[in-house]
Amino acid sequence: MSANTKVKPMSADTKVKKSDAEWRRELSAEQYRILRQKGTEPAFTGAYWKAKDKGTYVCAGCGNPLFSSAAKYDSRSGWPSFVQPLAADRVATEDDVSHGMRRTEVLCAACESHLGHVFNDGPEPTGLRYCINSAALKLKPE
Ligand code: FE
Repeated sequence: MSANTKVKPMSADTKVKKSDAEWRRELSAEQYRILRQKGTEPAFTGAYWKAKDKGTYVCAGCGNPLFSSAAKYDSRSGWPSFVQPLAADRVATEDDVSHGMRRTEVLCAACESHLGHVFNDGPEPTGLRYCINSAALKLKPE
């Protein structure tokens, strides 16, 4: 990358490491609870569950481009839902057996912040539902 690049493009192979103090300083209390402590925002309360604006949803923690508005659909769950990430390597997944459930957690591949979960009850073409907290996302309009 050239030295005069002003905005460093994020990619999944760009690992973002921040101290807990940095995360606490940069994120709101709600974002910190969700992104860094694997919290969940109440359904139908976030900024994006019913958003139809065109653009790219990036990670609220590090700016990693995660989901296109083209992959967003109305799951009626109260959380923004997507059939797929922008690219498979933008997100990471982990088994999550907390709260008496077996789920698949979705994390930002760059900064390892918690984003939400992915379920097998989505529409075509993938059959997947990436159920993501609004607080973990920032929409960059087209
Ligand atoms: Fe991130």
